[in-house]
Amino acid sequence: MLNDNHQRIAVIGAGPAGISAAVAAAALGIEVDWYDKENGAGGKLNNYHQLFPGRESAASILEDFIGTTGTNPVKKHFGIEIARIEKDNQQFSLFSGTEQVGVADSVIIANGFDFFDARIKEEFGYGIYKRVVTSPDLERILKNNSLDLRIDGADPSSIAFVHCVGSRDQQVGINYCSRLCCITGIKQAIEIKELFPQCKVVNFYIDIRAFGTGYEELYREAQEKHKVRFIRGRVSEASENQQNKILLKAEDTLMSRPLKLTVDWLVLLVGMVPACSQIQVDNHQVTDLDTGFFQMAKTFSGSRLAGQAGVFTAGACCGPMSIPEASASGRSAAMEAWQYLKNR
Ligand SMILES: Cc1cc2nc3c(=O)[nH]c(=O)nc-3n(C[C@H](O)[C@H](O)[C@H](O)COP(=O)(O)OP(=O)(O)OC[C@H]3O[C@@H](n4cnc5c(N)ncnc54)[C@H](O)[C@@H]3O)c2cc1C
Ligand code: SF4
Repeated sequence: MLNDNHQRIAVIGAGPAGISAAVAAAALGIEVDWYDKENGAGGKLNNYHQLFPGRESAASILEDFIGTTGTNPVKKHFGIEIARIEKDNQQFSLFSGTEQVGVADSVIIANGFDFFDARIKEEFGYGIYKRVVTSPDLERILKNNSLDLRIDGADPSSIAFVHCVGSRDQQVGINYCSRLCCITGIKQAIEIKELFPQCKVVNFYIDIRAFGTGYEELYREAQEKHKVRFIRGRVSEASENQQNKILLKAEDTLMSRPLKLTVDWLVLLVGMVPACSQIQVDNHQVTDLDTGFFQMAKTFSGSRLAGQAGVFTAGACCGPMSIPEASASGRSAAMEAWQYLKNR
């Protein structure tokens, strides 16, 4: 029996990936210490409104996720930010700042991602113009009070979305595609049209990457049912007029012609970047030099962290992924940790 000698695993992060990893590890009979820097579970899900592609309420999916943790004995250490993991013999020590906060026989890192800081793309005026927001900002507005989008009591008449903000952009040193912002922009465009049917909605894209099950259908629905306009083009600049409307300069790259547009709101579809709250592992180089995300030992199988036996990764700390993908990777990391503990 694996746990006759009480082997312990530390799971760092309580987003969708960390929840699935903690629950699966406990179900496999491993004793779990579960850490998150916040005081509760859920990660980014806490601030989303509806989820693509099925438009389920994020709050109810979060409840389902958290519900699964109730029946399993996991020891929660919430409100603790792990900064460093050190290996000594076969044991790992976990540190918050300089203080050692725990020990473990194996570790699953599931510390997720952060949103690209849109202020870096100064040309869009985020943080300067009131009505330039990011996709996570819009999620929060839709969740808390969509009427905040009204202007002087009237429905907004036009909203533009800009794709690939902080992704596929050599200027900011991020070459990868964040995979989920196209479908987020499609879903949010539909939500806007449902709330404000008269509002004109335009999405400026480089090319649409709608790869997942049900994504293409949602893209079609946005165009055919809701009449969202998709313009293949680049927005070069945003400015504000005296009525706080946003003036856009763009280029329609299909028609090869410049374009000017005035909208009530501009939404920047920001990319996914490595978590700001970084975790150092034994002073090893464990992140990909190009992207900064954790690097796995094998490209096609397994979730073992490159260069460190006994440490596994789950979810968006390895790169942009959806909630179902993050959850599946959490379960798979738990299984691999179980095999590691059994064989060592
Ligand atoms: C705008 C936007 C909308 C999205 N909408 C959807 C959607 O509708 N459907 C969908 O499938 N996917 C969606 N996604 C993707 C989704 O956000 C991710 O798949 C999911 O959040 C990944 O889960 P995770 O557990 O890996 O990371 P996270 O959700 O980021 O959770 C990480 C957890 O780790 C904790 N943590 C971080 N660092 C530390 C540390 N050092 N110590 C302790 N704890 C730490 C954090 O507090 C957090 O609780 C969206 C993404 C974006 C950008
Ligand atoms: S998913 Fe779409 S918006 Fe996001 S980086 Fe890729 S192409 Fe750009």
